[in-house]
Amino acid sequence: MTINFKERNCPICNNTTTDISEINPDIDPKNDAQIIKKYWSGFYKENVFFPYFRCKCGFLFNKEFPDQDSLNKLYSHENDNVIHGDLELDLKTKQFYLRQLTSSINNFEKKYKFLEVGADNGNFLKLLKKIYKNSDFYAIEPNQNMKKDLSEVTKNVFSNIDELKNDRKFDIIIGIHVFDHIPDLNDYFKKLDDLLSSSGLIFGVVHNEKSLMPIIFKNRWPIFRLQHPHLFNYTSLDMFFLKYHFKKVFIKKTKNFFNIGYLINQLFLSFFKLKISLPNLFSVGLKLGNFCFLYKKNR
Ligand SMILES: [Zn+2]
Repeated sequence: MTINFKERNCPICNNTTTDISEINPDIDPKNDAQIIKKYWSGFYKENVFFPYFRCKCGFLFNKEFPDQDSLNKLYSHENDNVIHGDLELDLKTKQFYLRQLTSSINNFEKKYKFLEVGADNGNFLKLLKKIYKNSDFYAIEPNQNMKKDLSEVTKNVFSNIDELKNDRKFDIIIGIHVFDHIPDLNDYFKKLDDLLSSSGLIFGVVHNEKSLMPIIFKNRWPIFRLQHPHLFNYTSLDMFFLKYHFKKVFIKKTKNFFNIGYLINQLFLSFFKLKISLPNLFSVGLKLGNFCFLYKKNR
C-alpha cells in the first residue's frame, strides 16, 4: 500500500508559517506505510500519530495528512466504529448528548428535518426519534457495515454527502466525533452549510485538546492519533464557526461513559506501556476530554 500526503495550511486562518511541531509521536509514521496501516485503528503500547503543529491563531493541526485516495484505502480496512461489547456505554453517552441538545431545542411537537453525518450505528438517531416524534431523519454513514442497523432507524440513509441534493434543506445537522476526522474541513463544512436552512443549527461533539486529559497524558493521550488531522478547543472551534457567520448557542462539557476496567487498562498502557486486561467491572460517566456544541446559522 502506498500512502500519498497532502500539505495543509491551517484550516481556520489559512496560515502556512507554523514550523515547530508542538506534540510529537513516539514513532514518526510519515515514511512508513506499514506503520500507518498498523496503527490506523486500535490502541497500542506506542502512541503513533502525525506531528501536531500549533498555528498562530491557536488551532492544533497536522501539516501533512494522507490524501483522499490513501484515506479511502486506510478506512476500508476498518471494522465497526463502535465495538459491539460497548453498545450499552455508547447508548448512555449518547443519552447524555441528547439531554444537552434538548435543553435548547425543546419544541418536541415541531416537525424538524434532522441530518446526522457519520451516523454510525444509528443509536443517536434512535434516541432523537423517541423525543422528536413528528420529525424526519436522514443519515450519512460511509461505513457499509452500519447500513443494516441504520436502515432500521430511517429509510433515508446515504453513503456520501454528495448524494444529498442542496434543495433538501435541514433544520438541524448533527456530527458526533466527525469534525475532528475531516481533513478538508472547509470544503466539507461548506457542503453542510448548503444543506442547512437559513436559521439552521449544527450540533456536534469533538475532543478537547485543552482539557485535563492531554495535560495528564501528554503525547500519550489516545486522542492524538492518526485519524485526527486536527483537534479543537473551545476557542478554536468558536473561531471556525465565526468564520462562517454562525452564532454560538452553547459549548458544554459532555460526559463519556467508560467501563472502569477499560479505563485502568488504558492508563497502564499509556503510562507504563503495559498491556493488562482487567474485566470491564462497572461503568462511570466522566466529563473528561470532550465537549458538545450548538451553533446557529446567522446571516
Ligand atoms: Zn491558524
